Amino acid sequence: MVRRTASILKDEWGVSDSLLDAAAASEDAIAASCEAIDALSSRRFLKLMGAFRAAGVKESHLHPSFGYGYYDSGRETLDCLFARALGAEDALVRHQLVSGTHALRCALFGLLRPGDELLVVPDAPYDTMRPIFGLKPSPGSLAEWGVSVRLASAADVLSGAAAPGEKTAAVLIQRSKGYAWQDSISIATIEKLIASVKGSKHSVKVVVDNCYGEFVEEREPCEIGADLAVGSLIKNPGGGLAFTGGYVAGKAGAVEQAAIQLTAPGLAKEVGATLGTTRNVFTGLFLAPRFVAEALKTALFAAHLFGSLGYDVLPSADEPRTDIIQAVRLGSRGKVLAFARGIQEAGPLDQGAIPEGAPMAGYADRVVMASGSFVQGGSLELSCDAPLREPYIVYLQGGLTSAHGKLGVLLAARRVLEERGA
Ligand SMILES: *Cc1c(COP(=O)(O)O)cnc(C)c1O
Repeated sequence: MVRRTASILKDEWGVSDSLLDAAAASEDAIAASCEAIDALSSRRFLKLMGAFRAAGVKESHLHPSFGYGYYDSGRETLDCLFARALGAEDALVRHQLVSGTHALRCALFGLLRPGDELLVVPDAPYDTMRPIFGLKPSPGSLAEWGVSVRLASAADVLSGAAAPGEKTAAVLIQRSKGYAWQDSISIATIEKLIASVKGSKHSVKVVVDNCYGEFVEEREPCEIGADLAVGSLIKNPGGGLAFTGGYVAGKAGAVEQAAIQLTAPGLAKEVGATLGTTRNVFTGLFLAPRFVAEALKTALFAAHLFGSLGYDVLPSADEPRTDIIQAVRLGSRGKVLAFARGIQEAGPLDQGAIPEGAPMAGYADRVVMASGSFVQGGSLELSCDAPLREPYIVYLQGGLTSAHGKLGVLLAARRVLEERGA
């Protein structure tokens, strides 16, 4: 792509010859890995088509329901489709779940009762989950409800240094790295973690925070023994088309408990008008394996290019991936803002906006976000974000087409190099 479009990238987007040379070299270096990504995507797509067939999706299932939404066969079919697609018994797929954090809250409050303990892996959990745990006093948190939370690294669980105790009722495994310089947790490792915690306490329920992980590997968490997998529809499984929403998939009883937290005891999954929102969710899921592959190729390109420019990247270009997140340690506030500016300049919308840090609900530090996305915060679309704190790491994700992703990475690199020169 870079060589064939070099003159446009240079004349219209101001990308220098030396950066174009580095980018072309990166493209060559990752070509074989990109083919492997496409092959896996095709396998996941064919599996997904089997799910559409098994769920018996019909045109009439795309139509809206209103009011209570009783007997909505479209909503029920969407739940069934997600369950099949993610290797689960049942699923709760709702636009009333306002985000991934909300879906996780429902899943955890559904499974836990006063006096229980929740074990959380890794020990540096995602920012928006902290108020739910109530590690610091936080109204409505699990702590306030009498549930204690213990943090542990994956290594400590695997070695037996951290194991479920007498009070441990559930284990939450966060697959994607979040805003931390740590490895995301692969499906193979999650499988070992599940074997370990269930081996030492059979009754313990395992919830996997599956955000950014759907369709990246061959298997999904529920296929390797997780009781629940939870995620956001404006990340991978919404295929860039879902306007909002979240899902909880897994064992039928655990999904039911999450549904009760969203609605009410007695109502559970039986209510919730779709208002016509599901058409985009069906279509987005259909496209998700393809767009996830495009996002993975963008992440890989960024890893190689920024690695070749001398920056630490996680994962590196030759490591296997379990999510679409690419972390780049830029080391200064100026470079983080420069990177974000480059991503913003490549977006289809708001190209002229200059991203800056701002306070955000659920986050302790100011966060800078860049995205010219069609859906606000939709992060299977090309976007990056960074909490403005040491050691100044930027997290890049998405790109519905790798052509767009590469443009964003090139403009981000251009701005970072200018900042370095400044
Ligand atoms: C995105 C994300 C969530 C949920 O975030 P929302 O913005 O509430 O959807 C949870 N955990 C991780 C690791 C995430 O990346």
